[in-house]
Amino acid sequence: MTETKSSIRIVVVGALGRMGQEVIKAVVKEPELTLVGAVDRSHEGVEVGSVIGIEDTGVTFSTELGETLVSSQADVIIDFTNPSVVVENVYKAIEYGVRPVVGTTGIPQKDLHAWDQLLREKEIGGIVAPNFAIGAILMMKFAAQAARYMPQVEIIEMHHDQKLDAPSGTAVKTAEMIAKERERLRQGHPSEEEKWAGARGADYEGMRIHSVRLPGYVAHQEVIFGGVGQTLSIRHDSIHRESFMPGVTLAAKKVMELTGLVYGLENVID
Ligand code: NAD
Repeated sequence: MTETKSSIRIVVVGALGRMGQEVIKAVVKEPELTLVGAVDRSHEGVEVGSVIGIEDTGVTFSTELGETLVSSQADVIIDFTNPSVVVENVYKAIEYGVRPVVGTTGIPQKDLHAWDQLLREKEIGGIVAPNFAIGAILMMKFAAQAARYMPQVEIIEMHHDQKLDAPSGTAVKTAEMIAKERERLRQGHPSEEEKWAGARGADYEGMRIHSVRLPGYVAHQEVIFGGVGQTLSIRHDSIHRESFMPGVTLAAKKVMELTGLVYGLENVID
């Protein structure tokens, strides 16, 4: 653990996961950040670097978040776990005065509101971003822009087959951003009928969202707009989880300057 005087003390939660391991590699490379804790459900006491195949980090895995937050004097947790545990983790972090940076998707709206309030009471910040890849942020922004001119739109998101939530957090965020730019619109033929349930996808304010789950994919999304005699496709592909890391490390630094919750990396970059 090499630490500079001003460095930000990071605990990674979900540290053994696909994203968690990438986050650890990114944090140890970043001079302004110091890895001080790694929490997951196993490997208690085992040195982190030896498990994920990097140099000795001086940090061992822990299975108890509260204890780790106290003993490590953490400034920030970076959570990439799953929708059923992230909520409790973030309440705990806030209780201990530790700022949450959350990549886990599928978080209920009511918890986002509650976190914002609690963070304001504690006068600390938090960031929740359904997608930390800059290209995906641009895709969402361009899609919102295009919806003003081409309001008929469908979203197809494609992810690896171990993903737990559908539609993806990115698709949800994209739909929310598009909905702000157009009136609610019923798309397709008024008498269309689903012969097989789900054939037309999920419905958000008249927009259809389709979720594909297959091995081989990482995280991909195509937003297709249709107009008279033309279509427009805006597509983003994360072909490696490294694509998320500049956004994650940026958020870990920016969160130190915030009060309350910011939802969406675009609100940190602008
Ligand atoms: P994963 O299943 O590989 O990893 C999740 C890890 O969390 C596992 O190691 C698991 O053991 C651990 N975990 C489960 N319960 C825990 C607990 N109580 N305490 C500590 N650790 C616990 O999943 P993944 O592919 O790494 O994805 C994690 C999350 O990140 C998902 O919600 C996914 O949708 C999201 N994601 C977000 C972005 C983004 O840019 N925001 C990008 C990719 C994935």
